[in-house]
Amino acid sequence: MAGRTETPIRASYDVIVVGGAIMGSSTAWFLTQNSDFNGRILVIERDMSYESCSTAHTNSCMRQQFSAELNVRISQYAADFVKNLRSHMGGDERVPDLSIRSFGYMYLADTDGFAEVLRKNQKIQAAAGAGTRLMDPDEIKAAYPFYNVDDIVLGSINRVDEGYWDGAAVFDWWRRQARERGVEYIENEVVAINRNAAGTRVQSVTLKSGEVIACGQLVNASGPRAAITARMAGIEVPVEPRKRYTWIFKADKPLDRDLPLTIDPSGVHVRENGGGTYMCGGHPDDDPAVACDDFTMDFSFWENHAWPIIATRIPQFEAIKVQSEWVGHYAMNAFDQNAIVGPHPELQNFIFLNGFSGHGLQQAPAMGRGTAEWLTYGEYRSLDLSPFCYDRIFARDAIVEKAVI
Ligand SMILES: Cc1cc2nc3c(=O)[nH]c(=O)nc-3n(C[C@H](O)[C@H](O)[C@H](O)COP(=O)(O)OP(=O)(O)OC[C@H]3O[C@@H](n4cnc5c(N)ncnc54)[C@H](O)[C@@H]3O)c2cc1C
Repeated sequence: MAGRTETPIRASYDVIVVGGAIMGSSTAWFLTQNSDFNGRILVIERDMSYESCSTAHTNSCMRQQFSAELNVRISQYAADFVKNLRSHMGGDERVPDLSIRSFGYMYLADTDGFAEVLRKNQKIQAAAGAGTRLMDPDEIKAAYPFYNVDDIVLGSINRVDEGYWDGAAVFDWWRRQARERGVEYIENEVVAINRNAAGTRVQSVTLKSGEVIACGQLVNASGPRAAITARMAGIEVPVEPRKRYTWIFKADKPLDRDLPLTIDPSGVHVRENGGGTYMCGGHPDDDPAVACDDFTMDFSFWENHAWPIIATRIPQFEAIKVQSEWVGHYAMNAFDQNAIVGPHPELQNFIFLNGFSGHGLQQAPAMGRGTAEWLTYGEYRSLDLSPFCYDRIFARDAIVEKAVI
């Protein structure tokens, strides 16, 4: 990245953002959009190559099929933001026109219990304006003859604003415009978070290079490292890195139509990737928390688990060749797999922006906008994100999302 620096210009900022990937950059950009915010912003990113962050390993899709209405609304805003990127970014001629490749997500249920969950979810989604459609096995087979539906009871798909979008481009433009508008990005690591004498507020952060930088408010946008960052301030947050495997493969005989992002009942998912290639994702059943720097690939998982499952579901995928594969980390909220956003109840200038599990890319527009509102006004003004507050963890008030991937 051009102009990398590790030293901040000032000794004090109104807002310090820990983590400069998609969530940190969305927040910084939305702050620069708001004429009521006049403060100085410092984004601290420990690795400007972004090599190991979740944002770099994403599958970059969005869906409307959630069971929590708020998650549907959040994705609807994402769809609007992506499809009107240039106008959201002030009509900047350099900003590309983006679209969503709406092949849809196809949830497949092989039990009556899960079929009932899909039926209930469809009602919630339809009430929120999403175009989710339920399909029985015959309808699925007629629309997508390549599926084996012998064990399937019901499917659920939405082909409006649901599919692939170019998350990397949005991230790039947020960061670029934020910097042009005066946000400072530095390559450095926050190694300590210091409270005031009374212990009631975050006063400053200590950088790996030794400087101590004061802040008015601090945003924890550190992805799978969220718990490490919170612990620096004496706070616990139930977010942990969990491995997610992705494979890109080429089919000897490509399918004759777009493959929806198909969520097999086993949890393995596979989707269209263009040019006769497909993207498959999955994770081991035991799914343990891993070290932040553990990106080792389990090669047997593809051979023994993922491939047999997709080749059973789509027999045409018996003849394929893997082109590339990678391991990424979800920042998994182990409590309820949903975001944790907003202030800590006691340390009120410590703002969470964490725990996005497998849906943070599509949530970045609404979460960045909401966090910027909170930092500016002390309240949410567009979409009320308060159900995602930190306090719910102690109240054991889970937002149970039944449509997880
Ligand atoms: C395989 C995979 C597939 C996915 N697919 C999808 C999808 O299809 N759709 C979707 O919506 N979401 C998807 N996600 C989830 C999505 O990618 C993430 O939720 C999102 O990228 C999270 O962004 P973030 O900015 O919170 O975290 P990250 O991208 O992890 O960024 C956190 C940043 O903080 C920095 N940092 C950490 N600690 C410090 C520190 N102490 N000092 C300074 N910097 C620090 C890190 O270096 C990092 O750059 C997927 C994730 C994975 C892994």
